[in-house]
Amino acid sequence: LGGSISRALQLMSNATVIDEKVLNDCLNDITRALLQSDVQFKLVRDMQTNIKNIVNLDDLAAGHNKRRIIQQAVFNELCKILDPGKPSFTPKKGKTSVVMFVGLQGSGKTTTCTKYAYYHQKKGWKPALVCADTFRAGAFDQLKQNATKAKIPFYGSYMESDPVKIAVEGVERFKKENCDLIIVDTSGRHKQEASLFEEMRQVSEATKPDLVIFVMDSSIGQAAFDQAQAFKQSVAVGAVIVTKMDGHAKGGGALSAVAATKSPVIFIGTGEHMDEFEVFDVKPFVSRLLGMGDWSGFMDKIHEVVPMDQQPELLQKLSEGNFTLRIMYEQFQNILKMGPISQVFSMLPGFSAELMPKGREKESQAKIKRYMTMMDSMTNEELDSSNPKLMNESRMMRIARGAGRQIREVMEMLEEYKRLAKIWSKMKGLKIPKKGDMSAL
Ligand code: GDP
Ligand code: MG
Repeated sequence: LGGSISRALQLMSNATVIDEKVLNDCLNDITRALLQSDVQFKLVRDMQTNIKNIVNLDDLAAGHNKRRIIQQAVFNELCKILDPGKPSFTPKKGKTSVVMFVGLQGSGKTTTCTKYAYYHQKKGWKPALVCADTFRAGAFDQLKQNATKAKIPFYGSYMESDPVKIAVEGVERFKKENCDLIIVDTSGRHKQEASLFEEMRQVSEATKPDLVIFVMDSSIGQAAFDQAQAFKQSVAVGAVIVTKMDGHAKGGGALSAVAATKSPVIFIGTGEHMDEFEVFDVKPFVSRLLGMGDWSGFMDKIHEVVPMDQQPELLQKLSEGNFTLRIMYEQFQNILKMGPISQVFSMLPGFSAELMPKGREKESQAKIKRYMTMMDSMTNEELDSSNPKLMNESRMMRIARGAGRQIREVMEMLEEYKRLAKIWSKMKGLKIPKKGDMSAL
């Protein structure tokens, strides 16, 4: 896909005269590529019309960077489709919220329920899991196993066959136990499709969820719209989670799910493990969809913001896959120097949504400074090591003391480092485009 879009844009920039035909050819190529990425036909067609209205041919002819302008327009349009215009209901820590998960069998509901619970538990919530899937044999065992591993309370039954009854009992029990996030996992299959949707309606009516999350497998292709719509018609879907983004699928179906449910994507699943779960971030998602790679925008930014003399060294280190604490420190330094940091952050993979939530720049800046103070108490060995085992408790204690911080805060900083190192490890072996060379897109 990336290939065909960049080819389309290449053809366009080679043309001496950019006329209607050249633009149309280019847009047709992009359309084909997006369809292959599972973006729904109607969405692509609407986008094409919008772009024609936006892109001013006179401007293009006047020697502007045509590829850039069209690419930016496509990018912006896709971002717009992913923004339903209103945020989803967000549970509040300490208040009781019931969250119901729906989706077809195999979409990743049970796995995602646990990931969602675990994600919140790590942030100090008190989540609980209720298994209202009585259709599939082994459903309760699966949830029980996941929940036990994550030390999350769970409720279910081997005997009871009424999903509504179990859902209600589970929700009641965890309300009494003052859990603040009660997650209801449901079945994704029934003998008949209509009965599945009826069951979802009944479970929802009985448990009165504050939020219904539609879970979608990123590889379902063009079926996404109809599937999402079918669920939306029986229950009040308010958010979407796209799973299996670690696979080959680019996830274009997510655009359909947003369009069909008028709800935002809130998380993506990136693996089978409990912590392979990320807050959804529009820009890297769209980059990937366009085959731009999560790194292209970022590489541009590196060239813009990292001092010239430091670039080759940093890029070399990154392509070797060694993301050390010292590199993190240097990146923090660069980031703090750059003024309106949110803009830069939004380009840095892994940094944006988690470390730097929108509208909380001040707080994030303080956090980064705090992390840096702690890193100032580290030895060279610690800063340059990429061995995660090096940081034992006595080292952490020494660092905490040196920085006048709690050991808990040192651990939090190291967690952040691990998270970033994991993402950045994907840089390993990356071919590094030279400044101004956009053909790598
Ligand atoms: P359910 O039927 O909707 O409850 O789906 P499950 O949670 O049982 O998941 C179905 C399969 O997909 C399991 O083998 C999961 O391990 C796998 N799975 C779920 N989410 C992800 C993901 O984000 N990435 C990968 N690679 N596999 C996933
Ligand atoms: Mg399940």
